[in-house]
Amino acid sequence: MRKIETSMIAAWLARLAHSFTGCRPMATYTLDQLKESPVLPCSTCNGEGTRQPYGDLPRRTCYSCDGTGSFQLPDLQTILKQIKGRKKGTLRSKRPKDSRAYYVWRLARFHGGADVTMPVTAFSYVSGDPYVPYLDAVSEAVANTVYGTDAAGAIRWAHAMGHEVSDAYLDGSQVVPPSAMPGGPVVMDGNKPYMEAAELI
Ligand SMILES: [Zn+2]
Repeated sequence: MRKIETSMIAAWLARLAHSFTGCRPMATYTLDQLKESPVLPCSTCNGEGTRQPYGDLPRRTCYSCDGTGSFQLPDLQTILKQIKGRKKGTLRSKRPKDSRAYYVWRLARFHGGADVTMPVTAFSYVSGDPYVPYLDAVSEAVANTVYGTDAAGAIRWAHAMGHEVSDAYLDGSQVVPPSAMPGGPVVMDGNKPYMEAAELI
């Protein structure tokens, strides 16, 4: 049986995110480049702060960056503070208000298997943010720490898309939550914010 590579699924997820949010493929920076760049241009408007709508309509303020044309390097400590639960080693049960903190919180729940429905709402919250690959890396690290895996969402969706998944995930030698399995629950803790209700359809 062909082993499914989670990196392949991650790349597929990124493409899907772009098709949902309608923005152009992001400029490709390595993680190190992202961490060393205090400010980067908005990927939606390319740093211009405005967008040309279709047709002859006047230019509009960019919806991704609110016209600023750029994004600042996310502050890791601030994000971790905003997503952590009251008990040590847990995530908060309510969704964080800040867009980037919400994205990391939601993607960590997805990768860790707490909620394997497609995180469409979270993708839309970070459209145009060039630091998304950095936020993705943080989400995966958080999922590993909190849930002990970062592959639950990928395995679940690999099955759904007709890929064959490594036997190790199915015979119990690699422990993943029931939400990673076809037919398993999609939300493990019943904690699904109302604003994400459309993701259950
Ligand atoms: Zn912009």
